[in-house]
Amino acid sequence: MNNTNLAIIAIVIVVPLVSFVVYASDSKIQQNTANSDLQVMTSFYPLYEFAQKVGQDKVDVILLVPMGVEPHDWEPTIQDVQRMQKADLIVINGLGFESWVGHLSEINFHGNIIDTSTGIKTDMIDSHEDSSNHSHTSGDPHIWLNPVLAKIQVQNIADAFSKHDPQNDKFYQLNAENYKNELDLLDTKIRNELSSCSRDFIAFHDAFSYFSQEYGLNQHTIIPSNNPHAEPTARTLEDVINTAKELDLKIIFTEETADPRTAEIISNAINGRVLVLSPIEIGDDGDYISRMTENLNNLKEALC
Ligand SMILES: [Zn+2]
Repeated sequence: MNNTNLAIIAIVIVVPLVSFVVYASDSKIQQNTANSDLQVMTSFYPLYEFAQKVGQDKVDVILLVPMGVEPHDWEPTIQDVQRMQKADLIVINGLGFESWVGHLSEINFHGNIIDTSTGIKTDMIDSHEDSSNHSHTSGDPHIWLNPVLAKIQVQNIADAFSKHDPQNDKFYQLNAENYKNELDLLDTKIRNELSSCSRDFIAFHDAFSYFSQEYGLNQHTIIPSNNPHAEPTARTLEDVINTAKELDLKIIFTEETADPRTAEIISNAINGRVLVLSPIEIGDDGDYISRMTENLNNLKEALC
């Protein structure tokens, strides 16, 4: 056999082998895609946890806002938007919490956005024209801090998963039922343990309106808007100190990401103490239920 023949044999044998390998890996990729888990992006921490409870090992859940970053003022980067285009579902709180959602339509965004506030009737929402040109509803977005409303968010997530992955419909609905039962227990616990206590408390930012409405409490706030980054003015601090004195409150609440000095100034003026009341807006140690239970325990110290 001369060299030319060897070369021909090599081409005849090697080339089909190479084509086969390429073909095989192609079809493997296609198969994996067809069988892959739902790719879900969630806008902030509580929804990340709710989506994991419902989807478990059948869903890949990604948190859009990086861990530890406060979500109120967060905006996605171009890379985030590209990742969102590739996801099967983007789960948001709604009620204006994700201010960036309105801008997506301007860049021709084609993704499946699931608004978990769908079906939640709130009388604290007011419709208004904001300073930019588009009108939208805005108001108090903090529905997840009321476990009764959080159950609706969980069900909305389960229904979206069922719709986009009907094969696992029963799995998602059963997981949602189980988690909603846990939220029912939390709701009963809060209702029972706060039922015979006083009503007024001073939260850091305006996050506990739905919670207060559910459990018959009166929320006063250090930061009057629902923007936790707002700086309290001297006048605001004085007003809060007067409110605390009038109502004979001894505990002032702060948040994980707030400047602790603000609550300290007030508590020093009334000879009180500072405790944390978490709006559960950022990921931290502990899950939603354990952090809500911690909130309940701190509220009991203030009110009972
Ligand atoms: Zn908030």
